[in-house]
Amino acid sequence: MSPDVAAVRDDYPVLDRSVNGQPLTYLDNAATTHTPRQVYETFESFYAGYNANVHRGIHELSHEASVAYEAAHDRVAEFVGADGREEMVFTRNTTESINLVAHGLALPEFGPGDAIVTTEMEHHASLVTWQQVAKRTGADLRFVRVTEDGNLDVEHAKSLIDADTELVSIPHVSNVLGTVNPVRTFADLADDAGAVLLVDGAQSAPTRPVDVDAMGADFFAFSGHKMAGPTGIGGLYGRTGLLEEMEPFLYGGEMIRHVTFDRSTWNGLPWKFEAGTPPIAEGIALGAAVDYLDDLGMDWVRDHENRLAQYALERLSAREDVTTYGPGLGEERTGLVSFNVDGVHGHDLSSILNDRGIAVRAGDHCTQPLHDRLEIPGSVRASFYVYNTEAEIDRLLDAIEDARAKREAYLASDRYSDRLY
Ligand code: PMP
Repeated sequence: MSPDVAAVRDDYPVLDRSVNGQPLTYLDNAATTHTPRQVYETFESFYAGYNANVHRGIHELSHEASVAYEAAHDRVAEFVGADGREEMVFTRNTTESINLVAHGLALPEFGPGDAIVTTEMEHHASLVTWQQVAKRTGADLRFVRVTEDGNLDVEHAKSLIDADTELVSIPHVSNVLGTVNPVRTFADLADDAGAVLLVDGAQSAPTRPVDVDAMGADFFAFSGHKMAGPTGIGGLYGRTGLLEEMEPFLYGGEMIRHVTFDRSTWNGLPWKFEAGTPPIAEGIALGAAVDYLDDLGMDWVRDHENRLAQYALERLSAREDVTTYGPGLGEERTGLVSFNVDGVHGHDLSSILNDRGIAVRAGDHCTQPLHDRLEIPGSVRASFYVYNTEAEIDRLLDAIEDARAKREAYLASDRYSDRLY
């Protein structure tokens, strides 16, 4: 049976609060989702029940913390279709996961004559990282074009991914356009070229079923705080053979097996990549978050996201003064829509929306080159999650109408003078 959104909302006490005297309408989920009580209560049970450092202790509390922390790796691995904890490294977030691959694989291995192929729809977490790797190694950095309708140009990708290519890095879902990219096609292209494929799953792990094996990803990076989990925890799936070959990213305790004054050997997977005391409570809570999402059913989450995106697109594109970006009505999307309203600056609009208790994001969403490509300085993004409703999208549309009306009234008033501009 499909979950009832009213019952889902009961899991999130924050949704009962008001902002500026209005009910909170939280439409900034692509930045961070809210955390249900089933997840944040795991913090209380950890700190009230068995808080201790993991791996090192023989005592009971350390044993209980270790068992829970390790089991969370298994749960999260299973959630993305990985074989087990050996393939699931806990990191702070997507950004750190991508940087781990940069430091562990790309910086030590790549050089002049090698190529990295990425896309014009990259988040800065990926784009800036590969830009720096290219600068430091002398590798060539290539960008797959985004088409007018917000998709990756696969023909262009075919012309870029060649025998020199060592790494292909693409987002599974664009955080601005909502596009769901054909990862399998890119996996095949990478495979034929002998390159590894890194998939930025920051926007897909929260919003649709993920199977790293079926998509052919060698690496898959994601963040807990975008998928009903806490901040400070994320994951990197990596194929075992690759993780085994890779250099550690950080050095220190927990990641070693044996240390002498001259040399050190590394712990087994995934601990080789988790130096120092890890985010124990956060890791256990990430396990609870994936349990929570699995209980809702990821097929349902995907369909709910798509339904809300289609409804928002339908209502926004019915307005002549609104431009939306990315795949159009009827095409598959995740639950986010970026748009601009003629004559109303995004920051002004989001401030007017905030007056009505509506949270959206305005700006470049960490994708400045994509906005350059779209020839716009920024956009407003409304993004939805499991607890959002069509009524909340109606509230957004009412507020946009209000913002437009205020602007028209101002332009018609004697307070306005075009000589000022
Ligand atoms: N990639 C994409 C596609 C994203 O949407 C984000 C977050 N906006 C990131 C990477 C970075 O995530 P984090 O800040 O959690 O590392």
